[in-house]
Amino acid sequence: MGRQVDSHEQIREMLALAVAGALGPEEEQLVARHLEICAECSDELERWRVLAGGLRRLPTPQPRAVVVERARAQAEARLTEEMEHHWNQVVMLSLVLYAWILTLLTWPLFRLITGGLLARFEPGFNHSWLLFAAFTSLVWATGGVAAVLLGRHRQQEGRMA
Ligand SMILES: [Zn+2]
Repeated sequence: MGRQVDSHEQIREMLALAVAGALGPEEEQLVARHLEICAECSDELERWRVLAGGLRRLPTPQPRAVVVERARAQAEARLTEEMEHHWNQVVMLSLVLYAWILTLLTWPLFRLITGGLLARFEPGFNHSWLLFAAFTSLVWATGGVAAVLLGRHRQQEGRMA
């Protein structure tokens, strides 16, 4: 009987710690086992819980830091994902732009170089346009190869991460 009372008093002292989550697993089990048979301690624990709930509404640095850190990590992951998506778009757009600018810039140059030469054999626009079309296809193919290589490189990077 005396042992029982001792245990009851001991458990009562532990209740605040139990609510704070400051007990070790063995002590926690001891408290849980006692609560099953002791209504008084159960009520006491409930009071501590209410009190702790009130305290928890006040800013407590440690749990908040964990929550903030988790939220920050999630936000960062989302941002990285978005940046990667954005970066892919930028790369594709740059390649398209590169091909177009090259096409537009080289056309007068191409005509200048081939125009005089071709005019001697076959005056007219069509032949040089055909050659230019072939040249443009080559430029676009280069852009396509670059895009494929870049995509493969990024895939490998993703696999390693
Ligand atoms: Zn008790």
